[in-house]
Order: sequence, then C-alpha cells, then structure tokens
Amino acid sequence: MPKSCAAIGCGNHSMQGEKVSFFLFPKESEKRSKWAQALRRVNTDGTRWSPKSKWTYLCGQHFITGKCAPIHNYILNYISN
Ligand SMILES: [Zn+2]
Repeated sequence: MPKSCAAIGCGNHSMQGEKVSFFLFPKESEKRSKWAQALRRVNTDGTRWSPKSKWTYLCGQHFITGKCAPIHNYILNYISN
C-alpha cells in the first residue's frame, strides 16, 4: 500500500519516486497527539484531527532535520512558519 503524508497541503506519497522518507505516527498516545497538534489539522466538524489508522504517515519534510528526530524536534516547519 502506498504511503501518503497526513499533513495538510502536502501531497507527498511514496509513489512519487522521489526520495522522501515517511514516518509512521508513534504508537504512544502522548507522542501521537504531539504530532497531531503540530499538524494543526482539524476535522470537518472542527474537532481536532487525530490519526485514525495505525498506518498514518508524515513525510520527512515536516521534520526540522528531515528525519524522525527526538521529541523536541518533532515537526516543526509548521510552528516556525
Ligand atoms: Zn508531507
């Protein structure tokens, strides 16, 4: 199954053939919610979005280092923009 990025406005997916890394949302609920918060994604009913599936990915473009990093580096192009 192709991986696709859960970030709003990001169309990256694993079928592009570009070298983009994908990272699964963490299993730990605390980390999952940190990732979800950083995405600032909301559901159509206005509630905070959270990954519905175990197989929800973010691509490396949303990590400061380009790779999955320690928690303080999580995502964060969004925060700095
Ligand atoms: Zn992405």
